[in-house]
Amino acid sequence: MNLKVLEECERRGHEQVVFFNYPQVGLKAIIGIHNTVLGPGLGGCRMRLYHDESQAVEDVLRLSEGMTYKSSIAGLDLGGGKSCIIADPDMVDGRPELFEQFGKCLESLHGRYITAEDMGTSVQDVSYMRRHTGFAAGYSQDEGGAGDPSPWTAYGVYQSIVAACERRFNSKDLTDRHITVQGVGHVGIYLVERLAKAGARVTVCDTSERALQRASQEFSATVVDKEAIYDVECDVYAPCAIGQTVNATTIQRLRCKIIAGAANNQLSSPEVYELLDERGILYCPDFVINSGGVISVGAELIEGGWQENWVSDKVKNIYHVIHRVLDESEKRKKFPEIVAIELAKERIREKEAASKNN
Ligand code: NAD
Repeated sequence: MNLKVLEECERRGHEQVVFFNYPQVGLKAIIGIHNTVLGPGLGGCRMRLYHDESQAVEDVLRLSEGMTYKSSIAGLDLGGGKSCIIADPDMVDGRPELFEQFGKCLESLHGRYITAEDMGTSVQDVSYMRRHTGFAAGYSQDEGGAGDPSPWTAYGVYQSIVAACERRFNSKDLTDRHITVQGVGHVGIYLVERLAKAGARVTVCDTSERALQRASQEFSATVVDKEAIYDVECDVYAPCAIGQTVNATTIQRLRCKIIAGAANNQLSSPEVYELLDERGILYCPDFVINSGGVISVGAELIEGGWQENWVSDKVKNIYHVIHRVLDESEKRKKFPEIVAIELAKERIREKEAASKNN
């Protein structure tokens, strides 16, 4: 293994990184297990044609660390992990064999890492894996699994918007609040539905005409061009499409009071913390408010399997979690994202201390 990988593991605190190579089925995979103090590392499996292997390793290390904090802050007894398969996500021939082999790889880790679908992989791929392992979650509702996590992700984002509005405007009532939603795909459209039901005014953008049509026809959302979304005067900007849309350039254009959306990695770099503070924009950390999906997938692993009430209660609780993060942010005089990571780490340290004392 490249020494720099080990250095990076040490810096980020990874427990284990495993490489798998099965050329007979075209499988080249990396699994990163960041932290298993709270429970097995849960995180999706990405399939992508990376520029080179170091880019794949970087993705696995960064994303698996993020999963540790996401599960911890969501109050799950799960740790952080992530995997990637270096291959064309659109491959058709030999797909079952590749994912069956990946299932065997997962099995060899004895449950320290549990995977699920992610970018480039599907529920069908998870079914192939499950022919050889039970350590693959996020399967269909017909099979007793969680099914699509997107409605739960949207519900958590909605709860966070309510909490953030309560802090900023002293009211939980979303009637006539103006909310812009960037991206009305799987998560975005469920969010628009909830916001419209709550009486909010919703403005959306997307690159897909079909997605826009649905948002405007079914939920009376106003449509703007994808570049114009940053200039719309609104109460809340909810990025639900791609990462890094909050950067030095867009922050100068944004005319919102709150940023709260589902997209992963919304901030381009930690340098924007100060810029957001200067503009007086309240930022709800993405990995906290988009944890509804992992809560739903994680529910498959609890005793008795996936249960709607369990998931619903935990996702509703994101409202309280976001209040706690913002309370602590004020107390510690630190940016919400930093505080959310601190709180996630504190929960892990408490569990470690408790296990030592037992
Ligand atoms: P999706 O692909 O279904 O939807 C994304 C939508 O954004 C699509 O309709 C797409 O056309 C649109 N889009 C792409 N580029 C755009 C641009 N530049 N401007 C405006 N619209 C654009 O994805 P999703 O599952 O809805 O996830 C949305 C985001 O939330 C992603 O960043 C994802 O990583 C994150 N997320 C999703 C879940 C989940 O449960 N699906 C959970 C956690 C985080």
